[in-house]
Amino acid sequence: MLKKFIMIILSTCILATLVGCSKSTSSAKERAVNNSNQSENSKLKVVVSFNPLKEFAQAVGKDKIEVTTVVPEGVEPHDFDLTIKDMKDISNSSLFVYSGFGMETWVDKTLTSIDNEDLVVVDSSKGITPLNNPAGKETGQYDPHIWLSLQDAKIQTKNIKDALVKADKKNEKFYEENYEEFSAQLDKLYNEYKVKFKGVQNKNFVTGHAAFGYLCRDFGLKQNSVESVFGGGEPSPQTLKKLVDIVKKDKIRVIFMEELASPRVSETLAKSAGAKVQKIYTIESKEENKTYIESMKENLLNIYNSLK
Ligand SMILES: [Zn+2]
Repeated sequence: MLKKFIMIILSTCILATLVGCSKSTSSAKERAVNNSNQSENSKLKVVVSFNPLKEFAQAVGKDKIEVTTVVPEGVEPHDFDLTIKDMKDISNSSLFVYSGFGMETWVDKTLTSIDNEDLVVVDSSKGITPLNNPAGKETGQYDPHIWLSLQDAKIQTKNIKDALVKADKKNEKFYEENYEEFSAQLDKLYNEYKVKFKGVQNKNFVTGHAAFGYLCRDFGLKQNSVESVFGGGEPSPQTLKKLVDIVKKDKIRVIFMEELASPRVSETLAKSAGAKVQKIYTIESKEENKTYIESMKENLLNIYNSLK
């Protein structure tokens, strides 16, 4: 706790310094933003918190919107705190989308300090039934990984679509049609794997951090993880031993490894349990330039192949 507090203080100091240095460039950028807002053909400015929301927004808004992502590529979003420049980007946008269920610990503080009455704010988790945080309430009441469920991703995308329609009524038909097309892709993949997972006996898989709770809910599966829901914290020897036992008992052949969560621990675990390591995408950051649908297809295929 104290470590985290010190980290927050430190990062705030660094931020203040950074913002101070880049003052002149940011005001030039602001002028550009104001100019483009005045132009008739300007795209609707959308700011999203992190990667999957960018894809959902783009699937609906396509060339009518311009999306900026707060959490930079390759950065793990669980421990992120935003910069003053991010605050300005949000203030200057028409739409701000966040995932919800505690994923963005900074969101309440941000929304109270933003001065833009016209900003449409989208909590993309609205209407989704939350899962409790299996790690206990200390790190947040709910498991935030809703975008890894195809069904919940559809609700998130619908919330974004409704907000786009509200902010830009004249393109309503365009947004509705794009939403229908994207949600049909989500449904198709969901229906395919609903049948496939029903046919497998073993429902257990092992991954890096506990990001797949909602995916498991979709398909009646069970995840075991090296790290907790919010990432961070290498497993204790007891946890590791428990995982090795699960892997051996259920004859699990594959340990999934995430780029941003203890990949080496997954490797160690696989070695000690005689399993192989395979990559899985949490989509928390863009990986290997894959789209959301491509990443989910691979995830589901690889989980299915490891169970059947
Ligand atoms: Zn996560």
